[in-house]
Amino acid sequence: MGDFEPGAKIEEWLHSCIRCGTCKYQFLEYSPSCPSGDHFGFESYYASGRIWLARGLKTSQIEWDESQLNPIFACTTCGACEVQCHAPHKEHIVELIEDLRALAVKNLGAIDAHEKFRKSIEEKFNPYNEAPHNRELVRIHDLPERADIVLFVGCTSNYRENQIRDAAISVLKKAEVGFTVADERCCGSPLLRTGQRDLVASLAEHNAKAIHEVGAKRLVTTCAGCYKTLSSDYKKMKIELGVEILHITHLLEELLGNGSLAIDMARPFGKVAYHDPCHLGRHMGEYETPRRILSQLPFTYVKMKDKEKENAWCCGAGGGAKAAYGEWAIETAKKRILQAVTAGADILVSTCPFCSRNLRDASESSGVQVFDLIELVDRVT
Ligand code: SF4
Ligand code: SF4
Repeated sequence: MGDFEPGAKIEEWLHSCIRCGTCKYQFLEYSPSCPSGDHFGFESYYASGRIWLARGLKTSQIEWDESQLNPIFACTTCGACEVQCHAPHKEHIVELIEDLRALAVKNLGAIDAHEKFRKSIEEKFNPYNEAPHNRELVRIHDLPERADIVLFVGCTSNYRENQIRDAAISVLKKAEVGFTVADERCCGSPLLRTGQRDLVASLAEHNAKAIHEVGAKRLVTTCAGCYKTLSSDYKKMKIELGVEILHITHLLEELLGNGSLAIDMARPFGKVAYHDPCHLGRHMGEYETPRRILSQLPFTYVKMKDKEKENAWCCGAGGGAKAAYGEWAIETAKKRILQAVTAGADILVSTCPFCSRNLRDASESSGVQVFDLIELVDRVT
């Protein structure tokens, strides 16, 4: 767990921030890129300030105190700063912030809202304090006990945005894909993002065993956060799931390409803008697959000016922000909705249940409807 030892990443990049301030704005556009700094205004709410805070705390030049909690935790871990920064540590800024959070939890304890979902994950294996019901899906949807593909439903799809889960099951059935659902537990993403790392290895080990038990060779998830955690964070923790890990957009492209899914082009939906989830786009570099799928659907695709792909404005929900800083999370999402309105979109589509949830919460009276891509695909197949 070397890299997961609190403080290891800070140690590695202790002196590389040159305080140029480039991480605050979109490079050469000079529009805001950091939702945290843009809202709170102070230096300590930008990546630069957080790195220097980490440096001061790690070298004991400053002492831990509770006034540091908001600068440390009011960050969506969106990674926009990594795109703008041009210094050698650029790809490690979010890791560094997450590492600072792990140190903060060790020294000051977790903040209440994060501690609450940690307790729920420990007791119910999901952050929403819901009775676990994954395996009931096997009975309800008449799925096989074993299959080549396992649908990793993810807690937000399963317990809050279940229209996304149901659309995924519906599309996979229409395409006659052999799949099932395992006895999954939370992937651990909410814990990793909020510095609460102690439960993650046991969740990962359980998931590896559950996936093995259903005999899957491929895993597909609707959630960008699960996708990043299962394929990138588990690897860093040296936990192998032993399956190919796909975001559902990867499988959708395959199913559209081999003719397993046919699109009804007679059902146009109007103008659609695409919101890149931070965990699929900036964190995993996947920008094109969702756009290639959208280009095959009966919509007119509209762009949100310079806020596309690596420069996408964050939905505001990630990194524990929605749980701990609800008003700021909605304010950030409202800025994204406004970008969609300005682009002339009727629909804002994303590929992450967490983004869909926050954007929908912020979309009231905007005239823009928010959907996940899998929901749109379900409607036209
Ligand atoms: S994090 Fe990067 S862009 Fe931001 S001040 Fe430091 S060196 Fe400059
Ligand atoms: S991860 Fe996002 S919110 Fe956090 S400092 Fe970087 S740009 Fe700002």
